[in-house]
Amino acid sequence: MKRFLAAALGATLASGMAHAQAPATPKLIVAISIDQYSSDIFNEYRAQMTGGIKRLMDGVVFPSGFQSHAATETCPGHSTILTGSRPSRNGIIANEWFDPASTRTGPDGRIDYKVYCSEDERVPGTNSRAYVVSPLHLKVPTLGDRMKAVTPASRVVAVAGKDRSAVMMSGHNADQVWWWEGKGFTTYRDRPGAPPAAIARANAVAQSAIDKPVTPKLPPACAARNFATPIEGGSVGTLQPRKAGDARGFRASADFDRAVLAGAEGLFADMKLGRGAATDVLAIGLSATDYVGHTWGTAGGETCVQLHAVDALLGKFFAMLDKSGVPYAVALTADHGGHDLPERNRTNAIPAAKRVGLDPNLAGISAQLSAKYGIPGPVLIGDGIFGEIYLSKAVPPARRDAVIADARTAILAHPDVQTVFTRAQLSAIPSPSGSPADWTLEQRARASFDPDRSGELVIALKELVTPIPSSGLGYVATHGSIWNYDRRVPILFWQKGLRHFEQPNGVETVDILPTLASLIGLAIPAGEIDGRCLDLVAGAGSNCP
Ligand code: ZN
Repeated sequence: MKRFLAAALGATLASGMAHAQAPATPKLIVAISIDQYSSDIFNEYRAQMTGGIKRLMDGVVFPSGFQSHAATETCPGHSTILTGSRPSRNGIIANEWFDPASTRTGPDGRIDYKVYCSEDERVPGTNSRAYVVSPLHLKVPTLGDRMKAVTPASRVVAVAGKDRSAVMMSGHNADQVWWWEGKGFTTYRDRPGAPPAAIARANAVAQSAIDKPVTPKLPPACAARNFATPIEGGSVGTLQPRKAGDARGFRASADFDRAVLAGAEGLFADMKLGRGAATDVLAIGLSATDYVGHTWGTAGGETCVQLHAVDALLGKFFAMLDKSGVPYAVALTADHGGHDLPERNRTNAIPAAKRVGLDPNLAGISAQLSAKYGIPGPVLIGDGIFGEIYLSKAVPPARRDAVIADARTAILAHPDVQTVFTRAQLSAIPSPSGSPADWTLEQRARASFDPDRSGELVIALKELVTPIPSSGLGYVATHGSIWNYDRRVPILFWQKGLRHFEQPNGVETVDILPTLASLIGLAIPAGEIDGRCLDLVAGAGSNCP
C-alpha cells in the first residue's frame, strides 16, 4: 500500500500536476457486474458513453478480460468476480448441476436430480425450482468474507437483480443481501422481518416502473441499429413500449437496474457505508442487460438503448458517491459475454450461425443405452445435448466405462457437437495458466471442472450454434458456451487519482479480488486463489504486494 501511494504521488508530480492528490486508501469498494456485458458490446458502444462507463474508462481499462472457464453462465461468472477463484476451485460449475444420488422430488413428481447453484437442497420440501437461497455451495471466501475475517467492522452489502448474483458476490457472512423475486426485493429466509427503508424505497421505484412504464427515448446514436429482424411469430430489433403491469418485461429494461441502484444508494446512505472504522464492500448486480440480450439479441436497438441507460444510471450513481466525500474504488465487469441471435447474425455476415436441432436428443441416447445394457432408465442425466452429463446410480460399476464410452460416441455423432470431454481427461490436466485468450478448449473445460460436482461427460457445441431450437420460444439468444464471445468481458477499475491506461492483453476476472485486496492492504495467502494482482499504477511502482 505504501508503495502504491508513493508511486502514485510520484507519477502525479512527474506529470506536472503539483497539487493533485494521490489515491487514498478506499473506504468503500464498489464492485459492479453488468450481466451479459460482453467485451463485444462494450467495444461497440464505448465511444458513445458519456456517463458512468465513460468515468470508468478514464481509469484502468482491460477490454479483454476473461471469464476464462467453459460454462459461461451467470452463477459461475459471478462466483469468480470477488473470490479470485475459478469454478474448478470455488465449486460453482454451472447455474445448475446434477446429483445422481438425489432422492428429493421435483415439481413434476419425479426425482429432482438438479441442484441450483445458490440453493440449500438440504431444506426439506424444496426442489431446484422452488428453492431456498443460500451461499452453501460456494467453497471459498469472497472479498467481503476475507475483509470481515481481518476487520470485523467491515460491512458487506449486495443488491442485485438475481439471487445468484447477490449471493456469489457477497459470500458467506454478508450484512445485507437483496435480490429481486417477482414482486419485490427479498433476502435470505433466515433473516425475517420487514426490509430496511432503503429496500422499501427500491421496491417502490420498481413497482412504479411496473405500473406506469415510460418508454425511453431512442438516443440518436441508436437510430441506425433500430430496425426489425424477422423471427418466428414476430421480429426483434426495434424498441417497443412496455405494457403497464408487465413485471417480466420490467426485468428487460433499465428500470430494473434503476431499482437495484436505488437499493444500493439507499443502503449506502442509511448504513453510512465508507464512514465506519473499516473499509466496506458494496456489490451491485445489474441484470437487465442479460434479459435484454436473451429477449431480443445483442445487436439491435434494444441493447443500444439499454447500454445508454446503464451509462446514465451509473453516472448519477457515481456523482452521488462523489458528493458523499467517501473515498471509493470501483471495479466493473460482467459475469459472461454473449452474442446475437442466429437470425440476425446470418444477415450480418455470419452465415454459419444456427440453432441446435432437437434430434437426436439426450433422452433418445439414454433410452438406447438403457436397452443395450438392460439398465432401467434414465441412464444419462442432463439437460440435453449440451453441458454436463451424469450417469445414473443404476449403472453397475463394472458397466460404467462402457456406458460412458458409448454415450460419448453417440453424442459426438451429433452434427452440432464440437467435442465431448470425459471426467478422466479433465482430471488428468493441470489448472490452466498463461493468457486465457490462448487456452485450448480442454483447458477452458478444466477451469469449469470440479470433481465433486462435475459430470462424467462435458459437451461443447460448435461455435455459433445457439442451443435454443426455435426463435419463437421466448428467449431468442443466449450465452454459456466455451467460445470467446461468451468468455470475453471488460474489466474496468476506477479510483480518484488513478492515472488512465489501457491494457489490451487478456486478463481474468479472478484477478479482480487480489487487485482490490491490494488497494486496502488485505493479504491473500499464496495458493488460495487462481487470480493475480493487476498492477494499476501506470509507470513505476505498483499497488501489488
Ligand atoms: Zn448472466
